[in-house]
Amino acid sequence: MKKITGNIKNILSRNATILKFREDHTLQETGDEFGITAERVRQIEMLKDRKRCLRHNRFYYDTCSYCLIDDYKKLIGSAGKDFVMSEVKKEAKNRKRDGLSVQRRKHLIKVLHNNYHMSDMEIAYLFDRDRTTVLHHINT
Ligand SMILES: [Zn+2]
Repeated sequence: MKKITGNIKNILSRNATILKFREDHTLQETGDEFGITAERVRQIEMLKDRKRCLRHNRFYYDTCSYCLIDDYKKLIGSAGKDFVMSEVKKEAKNRKRDGLSVQRRKHLIKVLHNNYHMSDMEIAYLFDRDRTTVLHHINT
């Protein structure tokens, strides 16, 4: 355990050194200096902008997606099926593949299947997805 903590400290101070160097160098120059890719430098830069959600004990950049899902579940609980259906239509139109949308879609699919007893075929049609994807969401 002590060794692991030591390693994390080393990584953190190495990242700090990399970010210091990066202040007046390009991504590529910084990567070359430390023997890592420019993409890795960019990832390290992103890490420093992370915020932490205390409720869910996780890191995020803009908004904690789990907090959003919690709010969303509350809304579904109070607003009922009409609300779910209007969200489904929005979701079907908005085909973004980012993490949040995928989470929301998974949740909607489960709600429609478990609470409103729609078949996997009907759900697949609504979301314009194949049945396998829908079944996968229902069973995970
Ligand atoms: Zn959260």
